Amino acid sequence: FDMFVLAFVERLFRPTFRKDDFVLGKKLGEGSFGVVYRVSLANKPSSKEGDLVLKKATEYGAVEIWMNERVRRACANSCADFVYGFLERSTKKTPEYWLIWRFEGDATLADLLQSRDFPYNVETLLLGEVQDLPKGLERENRIIQTIIRQLLFALDGLHSTGIVHRDIKPQNIIFSEGSRTFKIIDLGAATDLRVGINYIPKEFLLDPRYAAPEQYIMSTQTPSAPSAPVATALSPVLWQLNLPDRFDIYSTGLIFLQMAFPNLRTDNSLIQFNRQLKRCDYDLVAWRKTVEPRSSAELRRGFELLDLDGGIGWELLTSMVRYKARQRLSAKAALAHPYFDKEGLLALSIMQ
Ligand code: ADP
Ligand code: MG
Repeated sequence: FDMFVLAFVERLFRPTFRKDDFVLGKKLGEGSFGVVYRVSLANKPSSKEGDLVLKKATEYGAVEIWMNERVRRACANSCADFVYGFLERSTKKTPEYWLIWRFEGDATLADLLQSRDFPYNVETLLLGEVQDLPKGLERENRIIQTIIRQLLFALDGLHSTGIVHRDIKPQNIIFSEGSRTFKIIDLGAATDLRVGINYIPKEFLLDPRYAAPEQYIMSTQTPSAPSAPVATALSPVLWQLNLPDRFDIYSTGLIFLQMAFPNLRTDNSLIQFNRQLKRCDYDLVAWRKTVEPRSSAELRRGFELLDLDGGIGWELLTSMVRYKARQRLSAKAALAHPYFDKEGLLALSIMQ
C-alpha cells in the first residue's frame, strides 16, 4: 500500500507533459505496437536533434508505462531513463499512449554487433577512448565479459523487482553514452509477476530468434491478458515454481553466443543455429560435437575464445542456454560465476 502512496506523491511533484510540448524529430523505429521518434521539448530546444525519445504506443502502452514507472523507482539503472507517460486523447478511436525517455545514445548492441570492428568499437565506447593495444582473443574476451556483466547486472535488477522482460535481444539493449553502460529498453512485452501484471496478448509473438523453448512463462497458473494493468496478489512461490526469469537468461546466452561467434550475428545464421540446437535437443555440448569437426575458421575462433582460462566462458554459456529453465543460472548466480573473476575491461584500464 505504501508503495502506491509513494508512487502517487512522487508523480504529483514530477513535471507533467502533453502532446503539444514535443517537437518530433527523426523516426528511430517502428514495431507492431508503436512508433519511436527522437523529440525535443518545444519550449526548450536544447539540442538540434532532441534529447528525448517518444514512443507512440497502442493499447499495450498502458502496461509499458506501468513497467517503466516501476523500474524507475525500483531499479533505475537497469533501463533507459523514463521521463513520463500519458494517454493522448486524440480524435482517433483507438487509445494512443505516449511514452517519453531520455535519449540514451545512438547505438544499440545490434548496431554495434553488426560492425566489423566489434568488440573493439564497444571497448572504445566503454573506455571513452581508443586503446592502442595489440588485438587478440584475450582482449576481445575481456570486452565481451564486460558487456555480459553489464547485461546480467541490469537483468538482475529487473528480476529482483519481479519483472521478466521477455524480449531481450541486441535491438533492445542501448548503449547509454551518459553512464557508459548498456541499458535495457522496450518493456513492451515485460511482465510483472510479483503483483500479477501478466499480459500475454494472444497475437503477441515472442521474438523467435531469441526466445527460450518454453512458450508460456507462467503457463496455466496465471490469468491471461487483461487489457489494462490489473493488480492481483500473486505469491512469490509461483515465481520459485516456474522460474520465469530464466527466459531472459536464455536470450542473454544467445547474445553471448553471437558475441563470441561472428558468423552467428546475422538473422539467418541465428535462425539456422536455433534449428541445429533444436535438433540437438537444446544441448550445446552436443551441438558443439556436431559442428566442431567441420567448423570454419570463424567458428573455431569462437570456441577458442570461450575456451580461454580453462573453458570458463564456455562453462558459463552452457549454464545459460539450457532446455530446462530450472537448470539455467539466475542473473545473480551468473554474476558470481568464475568467468567474471578475472578483472574486466574497466578495472584493467584504471590500473594502466
Ligand atoms: P519497438 O517497440 O519499436 O521495438 P523500442 O522501445 O525497442 O521500440 O525502440 C525502438 C528503437 O528506438 C530502439 O531500437 C532504439 O534504437 C531507439 N530507442 C528507444 N529508446 C531509446 C532511448 N531511450 N534512447 C535512445 N534510443 C532509443
Ligand atoms: Mg524493441
